[in-house]
Amino acid sequence: MKKRHLAITLSKLRGFQNPKVELEQYKTPGNVAAELLWLAYSLGDIKDKIVADLGAGTGVLAIGACLLGARKVCAVEIDREATEIIRENIKTLQVEECIEIINSSILEFDRPVETVIMNPPFGSQNPHADRSFLIKAFKISDVIYSIHLAKSEVRQFIEAFSRDQGFKITHRISVEFEIPSQFFFHKKRLERILVDIYRFEASKQKRKGYMFEFR
Ligand code: SAH
Repeated sequence: MKKRHLAITLSKLRGFQNPKVELEQYKTPGNVAAELLWLAYSLGDIKDKIVADLGAGTGVLAIGACLLGARKVCAVEIDREATEIIRENIKTLQVEECIEIINSSILEFDRPVETVIMNPPFGSQNPHADRSFLIKAFKISDVIYSIHLAKSEVRQFIEAFSRDQGFKITHRISVEFEIPSQFFFHKKRLERILVDIYRFEASKQKRKGYMFEFR
């Protein structure tokens, strides 16, 4: 599958029916999801790997990872309504075997995985909502892909925070993220923002060395 084909396939998946503002529910646009997944795939972090999608929403990233050959993806999502949409999207693309839907807060998810992929809340509604996602990701995996606002204060925070947690940023790619008007405070029909896709890797001393016995 080519990157562009992946982007188109993912952009056709069903979006949130009643997006909840307090949970910052935005479907990851196809181009952004494909950029993240393609980078992860080309660095060997997807194929045959045990992956977790934290705050899986509509399942776009989780499903994309399956299409690129992940062994298993845990899709962790707090909102029950969203998990129903994941279920539908999984059926559409016939990746039932590859995904386990976990309807809980990421705070309760404690399984070690080989790669985390996530598009966490940006923290626009609840300041620092992204922080608890990063903390969890750093705890369960040595390799993390995540999407954050491309703003200098966010970059500074993420650089310092990941360093403190024993992780280094190996890649950062900026892409356009289109948000359709879905909440009352959206004034334009389509909002375009710039986001950064990060790849974090545990520094040598901090690697967890988990064994993934079912490989
Ligand atoms: N990649 C998803 C993006 C979802 S937006 C998609 O394309 O659909 C962020 C998601 O995180 C939302 O679905 C929201 O419900 C979920 N979320 C927010 N806080 C959470 C928490 N504490 N635990 C699990 N999921 C959470």
